[in-house]
Order: sequence, then C-alpha cells, then structure tokens
Amino acid sequence: MSLRVAVVGSGPAGSSAAETLAKAGIETYLFERKLDNAKPCGGAIPLCMVDEFDLPPEIIDRRVRKMKMISPSNIEVNIGSTLKEEEYIGMCRREVLDGFLRDRAAKLGAKLINGTVHKLEIPSSDKAPYTLHYADHSNGSLQGEAKTLQVDLVIGADGANSRVARAIDAGDYNYAIAFQERIRLPEAKMAYYEDLAEMYVGNDVSPDFYAWVFPKYDHVAVGTGTMRVNQAKIKQLQAGIRARAAKRLEGGEIIKVEAHPIPEHPRPRRVVGRVALVGDAAGTVTKSSGEGIYFAAKSARMCAETIVEFSNSGERVPTEADLKVYLRRWDKQYGMTYKVLDLLQTVFYRSDATREAFVEMCSDIDVQKLTFDSYLYKTVVPANPLVQLKITAKTVGSLIRGNALAPTRSW
Ligand SMILES: Cc1cc2nc3c(=O)[nH]c(=O)nc-3n(C[C@H](O)[C@H](O)[C@H](O)COP(=O)(O)OP(=O)(O)OC[C@H]3O[C@@H](n4cnc5c(N)ncnc54)[C@H](O)[C@@H]3O)c2cc1C
Repeated sequence: MSLRVAVVGSGPAGSSAAETLAKAGIETYLFERKLDNAKPCGGAIPLCMVDEFDLPPEIIDRRVRKMKMISPSNIEVNIGSTLKEEEYIGMCRREVLDGFLRDRAAKLGAKLINGTVHKLEIPSSDKAPYTLHYADHSNGSLQGEAKTLQVDLVIGADGANSRVARAIDAGDYNYAIAFQERIRLPEAKMAYYEDLAEMYVGNDVSPDFYAWVFPKYDHVAVGTGTMRVNQAKIKQLQAGIRARAAKRLEGGEIIKVEAHPIPEHPRPRRVVGRVALVGDAAGTVTKSSGEGIYFAAKSARMCAETIVEFSNSGERVPTEADLKVYLRRWDKQYGMTYKVLDLLQTVFYRSDATREAFVEMCSDIDVQKLTFDSYLYKTVVPANPLVQLKITAKTVGSLIRGNALAPTRSW
C-alpha cells in the first residue's frame, strides 16, 4: 500500500511538512484556503532558518543588525555589537516567505489544493481512512465547490484557530492577542530603521509582553501583544506604543491594521490517533519573545521526518504511538528553550521595576552575546562558568537596584 497524507494549512509549518513528505515520495495533499494569505506577523526570523530551510536571499527584505531595548522610563540600550559581520535577524513579508515555501513543496510533488477544510471525519477503526470535507476554490469562487478526500494520516498546520485541533478534541490553550499596524514612513524616518528594530517594554505598552517597531520591506510594523484579551485594552496598549515611538513615526501613514491570536503554550493533546498538530496549531510559539515562524517550520519538519521514518518512506501507515515519537523528539530538543523563555517572562515582565532591571541587564555584553546566540542559532548556548557567574550576579544586581524583588501589586 502507499501512504496518503493530508496537510491542512500552508503557512511555514504546513509547507515544511509537505516538502519533507513529498521529497520522500509520499502521496501528499497540501490544503490552503487563501493562496495570497498575508499572515499578520512581525516577520522576524533567526539566521539559522535561512540555512536550514535553504531560503534564497531575496526572501529577506531587511537584515537587522541593531536592536534597541527601551525601558519603561525610556532608557535605551543598544544591542548588536557582539554580532559578527555575517550575522543578522532576517525580516521578511509573510506573503513572500509563505508563497516561496508553498511553491517549493508543490514543485517537489505535493498536490496543492486551494481549498478550505471544513470538517475532518474521524474513522471508527484504526485501519479506516480519515475523510476531509472541503470547499475547493480552484474555480475562483469564494464559496467553492464541496469535495471530499480520504487519507491515512492528517497533519494539522492550520494555525491558532485550528479546525483540525477541534476535530480531534486536542484541548484549548491560553493565547495572547497581537495587534499590529503597518506604517509607511517618510524616507528620512525610514532610513533610521534601515537595519534597526526596536523593542519597548512597560505597562503602558503591554502588561505581559513587549511592543515592537520592526522594519519591513517599505514600511515599519508597529505592534503589541497581551494575554489580557480585551479589545479596548489592546487599543489602549497600541496607543501606548504609538505614543512612545511618536517622534520616530512622525509623518507616517497607516497602510494596514491586523490582529491575530498567538498561542501561549502547547495544546494538551498534540497527537490523537493518526492526526498530528504542528506549528501554531500545536502551540509552538515561545513565551517572552513570541517567536513562532522557525518553530512552526521546524516542528512540522520533525513531524514529517518521523512519518517518513516510521512509514518506511510511505510503505506502511504509522500509528499514534509512532507519531508521538515526534513529540518526544521535539520536547527533548526544545523543552529547555521553552522553560528558559517562560521563566524570563515570569521574572522580568512582572512590573515596570523588573522591566527596568531587564533592560539594564541587556546592556551587558555577555548577556547580549548569550541572547543573540540563543536566538540566531536556536540552542541554549552554555556560557563558560565564569561568564555564567558574572551574568547571574549582574541579573541579581539589576533586580535589586531596580527594587524589582519587592512584592508586586497586581495590574
Ligand atoms: C502580530 C504578530 C506578530 C508576530 N511576529 C512574529 C515574528 O516577528 N517572528 C516570529 O517568528 N513569529 C511571529 N509571530 C508568530 C507567527 O506569526 C506564527 O507563529 C506562525 O505564523 C505560525 O505558523 P503556522 O504555519 O503554524 O501557522 P500560520 O502561519 O497561521 O498558517 C496557517 C495556514 O493555514 C491556513 N488555513 C487555516 N485554516 C485553514 C483551513 N481550514 N483550510 C485550509 N487552510 C487553512 C491559513 O490560511 C494559513 O496559511 C507573530 C504573530 C502575530 C500574530
């Protein structure tokens, strides 16, 4: 028999899964409801993604080499001096990145279906196929033509509002809402953001996250996020970041306003039967940095590699136990990264005093190097013991100076 796999969603997760499966010669169907989808996103990707996912240079609109951390009292700390010449944070437009990854998967043999999956029928036995009910938009209509497809295995890569997750009763996760305005700046103002990104912290811009100004292709993305999900609140926080960055954004014109949920932790069940969730559908965004593009692509690739391995390149149908190997591998490789970033958020985003301490700490060169290395290369880089000790002392010192260890009042 030959294995049939449906991948629902062609963001970074879905297309990466489909690419790996198609390369192995597995019959792969890649569903995307909107082929020109521009996912609301800052579009920042780590350097290791460029190599690992073989991204051509034109995918990267801007190479950010300078970062400003800005404290609640507007103290600015410049970071980036530790970067080597060839190192940078990539800034891309999601419509470009997603389009590239999707087309590549299709060229390698994945059957791309421009369709919205409405329903996933769960089979009554472990041998019977899954049935996907979808609206096929290939005739150009929004409503689409009702169709079905039967497969042996399903990958849910359909993002934070995943229907696949609902169909398998994967359970809920907490999420933040991120809000972003794309602002076109006058040329002179844009020049300032040529290769520079800004991160602002403070209760006025987010009670539990950070706000950002990221340079994009021909504009900046200005946004914020919070877990205190409430429309009035998010607007107030967005006004906060606009006020803080007001001088630098002077003369800007808003060209797009967008908002989307960001998962805060993994779903209770990420593999059920012969269905696996990857990327935002599974909940792979990191706390504190809100980073999800690389982790979406990587989790999907690891899931697909596990399928290739356990199916013998498509000769047998993997079981639930086989698919769960992907989760064990994932948790082993990245569990610590998630724990560290979770802890950072808990310690440093508690109050304006702890945020001041956080920004002060970022001025330390060893901290900068450790942070950049961890971000760019996705490894929790162990510093040598002396440097580690220095960083710990510096952290505690910053917290004490900022009176950040005093009990906090709730916000
Ligand atoms: C405002 C904001 C800023 C962010 N900034 C950054 C950043 O700078 N860097 C970073 O790393 N991360 C960032 N993130 C997080 C990042 O956007 C996500 O983690 C990432 O997009 C997850 O990729 P994914 O492939 O899992 O899901 P998605 O990118 O959400 O892709 C899901 C795909 O599935 C399709 N789909 C959904 N339902 C169906 C269906 N029923 N049928 C068919 N197709 C369907 C969608 O059209 C979409 O193309 C940000 C998020 C937000 C909201």
